Amino acid sequence: MKNVNGFLDIKKTDRTYLPIAERVLNFDEFVKSLPKDDLQQQAIRCMDCGTPYCHVSCPLHNLIPDWNSLISENDYKNALIQLHSTNNFPEFTGRICPAPCEAGCTLNIDNNPVSIKTIECAIIDYAFEKNWIKPQIPEIKTDKKIAIIGSGPAGMAAAQQLVRMGHSVVLYEKNKKAGGLLRYGIPDFKLDKKIIDRRLEQMTQEGLILKTGLNVGVDVSIQDLQQKCDAILLTGGCEIPKDLKISGRDSSDIYFAMNYLSQQNKINSSENLLDEFLITAKDKNVIVIGGGDTGSDCIGTAVRQGAKKITQLEIMPKPPIQVDKFTNWPKWEHKFRTSSSQEEGVERIFSTTTAEFINENNKLTAIKTYKVDDKFHKIDDSDKTIDADIVFLAMGFVAPIYDESLQQLDIKTDKRGNIKTDKKYQTNIAKIFSAGDMKNGQSLVVTAINDGRLSATAINNFLKESA
Ligand SMILES: Cc1cc2nc3c(=O)[nH]c(=O)nc-3n(C[C@H](O)[C@H](O)[C@H](O)COP(=O)(O)OP(=O)(O)OC[C@H]3O[C@@H](n4cnc5c(N)ncnc54)[C@H](O)[C@@H]3O)c2cc1C
Ligand code: SF4
Repeated sequence: MKNVNGFLDIKKTDRTYLPIAERVLNFDEFVKSLPKDDLQQQAIRCMDCGTPYCHVSCPLHNLIPDWNSLISENDYKNALIQLHSTNNFPEFTGRICPAPCEAGCTLNIDNNPVSIKTIECAIIDYAFEKNWIKPQIPEIKTDKKIAIIGSGPAGMAAAQQLVRMGHSVVLYEKNKKAGGLLRYGIPDFKLDKKIIDRRLEQMTQEGLILKTGLNVGVDVSIQDLQQKCDAILLTGGCEIPKDLKISGRDSSDIYFAMNYLSQQNKINSSENLLDEFLITAKDKNVIVIGGGDTGSDCIGTAVRQGAKKITQLEIMPKPPIQVDKFTNWPKWEHKFRTSSSQEEGVERIFSTTTAEFINENNKLTAIKTYKVDDKFHKIDDSDKTIDADIVFLAMGFVAPIYDESLQQLDIKTDKRGNIKTDKKYQTNIAKIFSAGDMKNGQSLVVTAINDGRLSATAINNFLKESA
């Protein structure tokens, strides 16, 4: 490290956002990168701890102090090698990871962690800018054939790893384009879809065969794949949304968040909506039920569509503003956070549940709510009516869709309905593996990438053992 006292001498800075009034005019990314000199200074702040909790806290176990040290010397080429050695897609995590690494950073004890995610993103963005990202074509090819079903971050990571191990890999996707929730869930203002396209281009140049618009189990027979392939990896995600079955739910003005978000993402990339009904928040009183990432994405989208007023309801109590570092660090902090979308204009209401959707002449007009205590019991006299023209349900996801492909396989699931595997990612059916949200339930992009990488290694070992 260039200056061992860097954490004392240099003030923390981080990326900033375009002003709200400017960024809500379109769906473009709005995070402003740090200049190279500032990045170098921020990397110098890393204390290169003997036990690097940032590295432990990152689900991919990224070699954070190593690339910080290289960036402190402005050595982007070697930093890139270190970064790619654990993470296939730092351009995704550098944009949308919640950064548990920064919660684990020793400097977070003082609320000033190293700007790890910013440095990660800068390394890979610079590498693409300099045209350093080239296809890594395997020198030796095996005769093994693998089908991967589902092209989200788990399927993409597994595919890239297995192709580079020399196997023939076909990645199937039922949607028109690959990327899973990166493409159809996460809005463009958080992740520009060109970022996914350029990585897919590298992957196909490496030898990946990508087949989109094919629903395995419907358009492609799973039995056929079982016969033709040496291994199959199921990475179909966790797509069944949680519903709110209360009075008035049959209103046509209540939508699952994903139906709304995927539609706007398709519009942004000029994808044909076919016969989809256009869902818009323009000039409407919008209610978002659910306080997580998906809820925030609905808010950011509704703001950009010109919503009249947005209210977000969360059943959980408002988290504390600060946490006790001595009992919490280096764990992820459950504290009050405001996402960039929430900053753009929303009223947030906590400890509140929805009791009824009110419809007049087949049109949603309001919702009835009440406050709950920390055991979710109703608090007396807390009933409220809120004007509502449209509602987005963003309360999380229950399980994978147990569709034709899984029914035909008779695959075992856990209590929640996620695919059950052993520690080697193997399901109850010979040659069939599973990874990502389909196996773990709804999680994060970084965990999906990690699972994709680990399942690829497990499949490779299985193929070697059965050769
Ligand atoms: C709105 C939203 C916002 C999010 N924001 C963030 C965020 O900011 N940061 C973060 O870290 N995480 C975020 N997440 C979570 C993250 O996106 C997921 O955890 C991650 O994408 C899971 O990856 P996956 O590859 O397991 O599955 P997915 O990304 O869900 O991909 C599964 C793919 O499989 C395809 N598929 C399913 N069945 C078949 C079949 N039979 N044939 C062919 N294809 C099939 C699906 O169409 C889909 O494309 C968000 C999730 C949502 C819903
Ligand atoms: S992937 Fe996420 S947790 Fe890991 S270093 Fe990057 S931002 Fe931190």
